[in-house]
Amino acid sequence: MKDNILPDSSEVVEVVQLAERYPDVSTAVRAIEGATRTVTEVYLLGSTGTVPEAPFEEFPAVEKVVRVRTSYRAIGRHENQAEVLGFEFNGLHFSQDSFHIFAGLCAVDSLENTERMFAALKRVGLQTTRAGAYKPRTSPYDFQGLGKDCLPYVFELAGRYDIKVISMEVTHESQLDEIEGALRNAGHPTGVMLQVGTRNAQNFELLKIIGQQQEFPVLFKRGMGITLDESLNACEYVASAGNPRIIFCLRGVKTHLGDPHRNFVDFGHVPVVKRLTRLPVCIDPSHSVGKKVRALDGLLDIHHATAQGVIAGANAVLVDFHPRPKEALCDGPQALLIEELEHFVRDVELVRNAYLERLKLHEQLGSRSV
Ligand code: PEP
Ligand code: MN
Repeated sequence: MKDNILPDSSEVVEVVQLAERYPDVSTAVRAIEGATRTVTEVYLLGSTGTVPEAPFEEFPAVEKVVRVRTSYRAIGRHENQAEVLGFEFNGLHFSQDSFHIFAGLCAVDSLENTERMFAALKRVGLQTTRAGAYKPRTSPYDFQGLGKDCLPYVFELAGRYDIKVISMEVTHESQLDEIEGALRNAGHPTGVMLQVGTRNAQNFELLKIIGQQQEFPVLFKRGMGITLDESLNACEYVASAGNPRIIFCLRGVKTHLGDPHRNFVDFGHVPVVKRLTRLPVCIDPSHSVGKKVRALDGLLDIHHATAQGVIAGANAVLVDFHPRPKEALCDGPQALLIEELEHFVRDVELVRNAYLERLKLHEQLGSRSV
């Protein structure tokens, strides 16, 4: 619909009424909030193959009619016809043009370490972090996260150190209520983005519940052992249930061909996901590489993997840091030190700028290529 046409307006009602006159066609209406505008989209669902476009194009309030031929109905680009808006959350903008670094703790283990982490982020000017309270571990005997007990101090400290968005994994729907309650008690000092981990990438019931709520955006991690198409379809569960505010995160895939890294780094898929979907794309070099090893040039493998994703246009980086990795209760061996944060951020900025320069070069000379 055109600008300023709201979901409950008479213009939308007219479109819905016409659509529902066709047999076996139902509708869903959704408002997509971008940085500068909000777009209302009306979806025609069901037997739409024979529904003509022309009668809908004739409504003065309809901006365009997009026929969805491929999968990924809600998250897809549909041959560039669908509007690519991104979303706002707690004062920050997330889109296929924006760039953020979510550096932080894989798992929260103490108030002291959380404070050291957040203070370091403030020193380098980062307002986005990661902090796991609910950890889905491979072994039931490993640390499972501090759960709701740590939320009050995590949120209070986030407010104190100007953290605007925390990516926090959830493994069960009950945790949404716990997070909501703790945020309310703390007076909403920060925002939480619900992280769906690779182990829950096809937990369809969880995905539907996350999709049915509007309060929290979602950082969805690709499944480690399924195809990209299967991961995108899983992500579509969240969007089709009503929540289009999603970041898609590449985190490597499991195969022995990736050895000696923990997972096979898949950041060559950054432009692919940007082409197939409207979602901002994140990379997680920590869980892909999985260890802190140094290349011969002195940089870490994690730096190099990050650069590969960022130079290809990634919109966010999710990366593990810890003030005392030896004491970390989860993924210590892949965590970078607080003292290494400034170098990481500056290195990433360099690569991001190189990506933007590449776009300018393409504007100048790229049109010569076919
Ligand atoms: C994590 O980011 O903490 C995590 C568990 O990652 P993944 O789901 O990608 O393994
Ligand atoms: Mn981890």
